[in-house]
Amino acid sequence: DSRDYDREVESVCPFCGVGCQVSLKVKDNKVVYVEGINGPANEGRLCVKGRFGFDYIHHDHRLTKPLIRREDAPAKGLNVDPDNWQEVFREASWDEALDFAANGLKGRGREVAGFGSAKCTNEEAYLFQKFIRQGFGHNNVDHCTRLCHASSVAALLENVGSGAVTATFNEIENADVAIVIGANPVENHPVAATYFKQFAKRGGKLIVMDPRGQALKRHATHMLQFRPGADVSMLNAIMHVIVEEGLYDQQYIEGYTENWDAEKAHLADYAPERMAEICGIDAETLRAVARDFATAKAGMIFWGMGVSQHIHGTDNSRCLISLALMCGHVGRPGTGLHPLRGQNNVQGASDAGLIPMFLPDYQSVMDDGVRSAFTEVWGSGDFSNEKGLTVTEIMDAVHTGDIKAMYVLGENPAMSDPDVEHARDALAKLDHLVVQDIFLTETANYADVILPASAFAEKSGTVTNTNRQVQMGRPAVTPPGEAREDWAITTELARRCGMAWDYKSPADVFAEMKRNMRSLENITWDRLDRENAVTYPSLSPEDPGQAIVFGDGFPRPEGRARFTPASVIAPDDVPDAEYPMILTTGRQLEHWHTGSMTRRSAVLDAVEPEANCSLHPSTLRQLGVDPGGHVRLTTKRGSVVVMARADRAVAPDMVFLPFAYVEAAANILTNSALDPYGKIPEFKFSAVRVEKA
Ligand code: SF4
Repeated sequence: DSRDYDREVESVCPFCGVGCQVSLKVKDNKVVYVEGINGPANEGRLCVKGRFGFDYIHHDHRLTKPLIRREDAPAKGLNVDPDNWQEVFREASWDEALDFAANGLKGRGREVAGFGSAKCTNEEAYLFQKFIRQGFGHNNVDHCTRLCHASSVAALLENVGSGAVTATFNEIENADVAIVIGANPVENHPVAATYFKQFAKRGGKLIVMDPRGQALKRHATHMLQFRPGADVSMLNAIMHVIVEEGLYDQQYIEGYTENWDAEKAHLADYAPERMAEICGIDAETLRAVARDFATAKAGMIFWGMGVSQHIHGTDNSRCLISLALMCGHVGRPGTGLHPLRGQNNVQGASDAGLIPMFLPDYQSVMDDGVRSAFTEVWGSGDFSNEKGLTVTEIMDAVHTGDIKAMYVLGENPAMSDPDVEHARDALAKLDHLVVQDIFLTETANYADVILPASAFAEKSGTVTNTNRQVQMGRPAVTPPGEAREDWAITTELARRCGMAWDYKSPADVFAEMKRNMRSLENITWDRLDRENAVTYPSLSPEDPGQAIVFGDGFPRPEGRARFTPASVIAPDDVPDAEYPMILTTGRQLEHWHTGSMTRRSAVLDAVEPEANCSLHPSTLRQLGVDPGGHVRLTTKRGSVVVMARADRAVAPDMVFLPFAYVEAAANILTNSALDPYGKIPEFKFSAVRVEKA
């Protein structure tokens, strides 16, 4: 009976950025089931992943001993069977593996790069960026935020002065109107979606904008299924109407913003009647949406990777920020800007400085005063004042021979990078690859040494969700075999690379983080242990934290937010006669990112066991493919064969492909062209040819 348990431990769901609090029920050192508890973001609710996606932690593929590549192993490639890895790797003691890992890294300076993880805790993320900066003297350290909301953060920092959300998603309870754009929360942030549905049920106007239809449409006042990549033309048209009809909030604009005249002048060219053909939404609908949003007392905007993963991702977010500002929909109850974060700790890992241009709390690496404040706390000499390389730039630098060694913690670039064969070739080329993970992932296939790490339910540490809520994760079971907690592994590796680290626990790391992170003021380890969650900023030791920020100005010069006009830019890889359709990629409800966890969860894998893509029924008919048959998808980068589903939510010239399946890896097809500001690849738009397989 799974309801029979010995202990229960409160922690945080390891999947999405909603950050649902859970109670892990434990028997015989195994998690036997999971219940939602009353966390600030979930109030007892869980989705199918949080409820059923826990058994991967006990999967027999878990790494239990350090592994070192055999000298007679075959050439590096995606060629290791997790059930039969002995042909490629041999078991090693921790001492041997750590020495081997450290010897391949130390003394190599700029030849070393690091990928940390948004799946690890804040303390682990902090240690990882410190490891690269202190140990190797530069900033070549990044993580999957680069592939997620880097463009949103670039636009928010530029125009609002802070990369985090201005209001929690739960604030929708106080809104009259809400826009959800380029996000599919029913599948990707399911518990947040329950709040959105409740909002619609009590009469709130829900406006969904997405090139792909979705379940939230059933609750929407307006569903704008716009042309892929046409976000800027649609949003500028909506803002044009607000200007033309005088619906903007003049008092707010004068009191709290700058550059309004430039924005206003820029929007003159974007009449909805002109933009309708480009964005595929008729002018009357664009006008109706503009009026609904601008005239509401309180409005919120939520967005996801449909907005951010474009070469114009930063421009998309600039438009959303401008739209909220011109209506005065920031800083009050029921208003705000909220990019829904993907990974459970992508907010926290970014806050902790796991990015190449910023130290913790988004303090610039180029600022001498900032760097010396950190080196003082770290007790070591200076490191470079140059921004480091981002995720995709690091792979390019491997190909040019500038990066020769990498330390990868909990990331899976052999599945998650765009144009993934390019990334796999780079991993194969490295002189020395250290991978720290819980499974022999696709990336670990290329490793020289693999360090077995801990799953969320096996360690202590804090994580920060999409709402800026710092939450306490607790160990419920011990790691399998000789696997260790990630903070302890990085600490040991740092010592062997010559750094004088002396942490005894994650609490020690958290205490050090607080010394240079104002966002953690009034938040202590003990307080988190008592209260489970505190939202930052917290104004006093009693304040649960501010759900809404910037009611009295912004952390920018003179306290003013900025309007940055955005122009229409075509996608990088436009369809032509050879590749006539549009490929877009994303997630599914049951599977998480590269699938390493959810494809090893029995219930989730049973519900969604096979690689699939979605095509409109009319497209399938034209191809002569029955639903459930197979199609070949080919782009300029490569080709995959995958089962096809009939799905009316997808436009006839589009195909949607989830990226969780190694046997039909979506990123073999995707384009690595980057947004120039956020350096995020254009995962959401590639020209593709679809054929019967
Ligand atoms: Fe976990 Fe997100 Fe589902 Fe909550 S909504 S249970 S955090 S996956």
